[in-house]
Amino acid sequence: MTTPSPATESKSEDELDSALVTARRQLERAATHVDVDPGVVERLKHPTRVQQVSVPLERDGGSVEVFTGYRAQHDDVRGPYKGGLRYHPEVSAEECTGLSMWMTWKCAVMDLPFGGGKGGIAVDPKSLSADETERLTRRFAEELRDAVGPTKDVPAPDMGTDAQTMAWFMDAYSMQQGETIPGVVTGKPPVIGGSYGREEAPGRSTAIAAREAVTYYDREVSATTVAVQGFGSVGANAARLLEDWGATVVAVSDVNGAIYDPDGLETHAIPTHDEAPEAVLEHDAPEMLGNDEILELDVDVLIPAAVGNVITADNADAVAADIVVEGANGPTTFAADTILEERGVPVIPDILANAGGVTVSYFEWLQDINRRQWSLERVNDELEEHMLEAWDDVRAQVDAEGLTWRDAAYVVALSRIAEAKETRGLWP
Ligand code: GLU
Repeated sequence: MTTPSPATESKSEDELDSALVTARRQLERAATHVDVDPGVVERLKHPTRVQQVSVPLERDGGSVEVFTGYRAQHDDVRGPYKGGLRYHPEVSAEECTGLSMWMTWKCAVMDLPFGGGKGGIAVDPKSLSADETERLTRRFAEELRDAVGPTKDVPAPDMGTDAQTMAWFMDAYSMQQGETIPGVVTGKPPVIGGSYGREEAPGRSTAIAAREAVTYYDREVSATTVAVQGFGSVGANAARLLEDWGATVVAVSDVNGAIYDPDGLETHAIPTHDEAPEAVLEHDAPEMLGNDEILELDVDVLIPAAVGNVITADNADAVAADIVVEGANGPTTFAADTILEERGVPVIPDILANAGGVTVSYFEWLQDINRRQWSLERVNDELEEHMLEAWDDVRAQVDAEGLTWRDAAYVVALSRIAEAKETRGLWP
């Protein structure tokens, strides 16, 4: 038997489940609710391909280090592979594969003409200088050059990457191809073909999902208390919008801990974790809590918007919120999902709630192809429209079949993907 590492010994068994294990279980479970050819389900359990590349980097001091990068391409039956690039020490082929499966469902729930992809580099981005990040990104773009392209596979930002990372990726790709090709990635700065509203979009859609969920369960947003775990782009934007719409955001957290004010925090006055990493705990608030305690607060809406696998078999019973809205990708383990279902706590799944990011990525891709920029107002209006349509498609399954919100979202996604697969056929 191997001795557990300090990082894993305090973790529950399901907390160690990879995104791939969870994604496959969710798919198997959802398949029992849809009339779908088992051959299609079998095909969807496997990615089309997963590339592994070595990314050599000359450090600022002159030494050379080699990092490992990945790009998982899960399925493209409905359009080019689409999904983020993550810079994080735990990035692996397996994690990228699981996350790429979620992207396939996310794009299908939103009815976007994309499939699912995800990639990244196993690196701690905080250990790199800006120059090193640029060199690493450019070399990564070169290593992935054959795999990506506006009609093949379109990366975007994810954990540890941002608009500047996408700008370097786009520039390296374009220079090697000999022409400016903005549509190779989304989430770029607007000045080089990025879309207004893209940065805020995952938080905006999470807030819209929370608002619709609150309304569905016969409450008023203005009478709602909210706790948000994670004050990065997703968490901060969701918290601020919900506050703007009248909700009382009683707690927010980042990796350092949480702050709590029963009368409501002024979320616009707290910089995001990316802007100022110590900002949450430095903010003046009546009470401080641990980063895990925020998950157990008695609030109307809990938004886990940090990392994956935070609601587990160990703490799902202690979740006191009435509704969970997943801002992060995969914050609830498969086992925790079952516990919350038994306890009657609805979970609005990531593939619907945070899908605003990829939806505005789609708008960006359209703008790039058409060489035409949309106004922020148009982006937000169209995002609202897309979210409400997807919400309605999923809600119809919840109402008609009595499914959980996650199963319902999977049923919507799987039906669309299966129909496309059956129509195109299996060749040869
Ligand atoms: N990384 C984001 C996600 O997980 C966005 C992906 C994209 O825009 O392609 O949804």
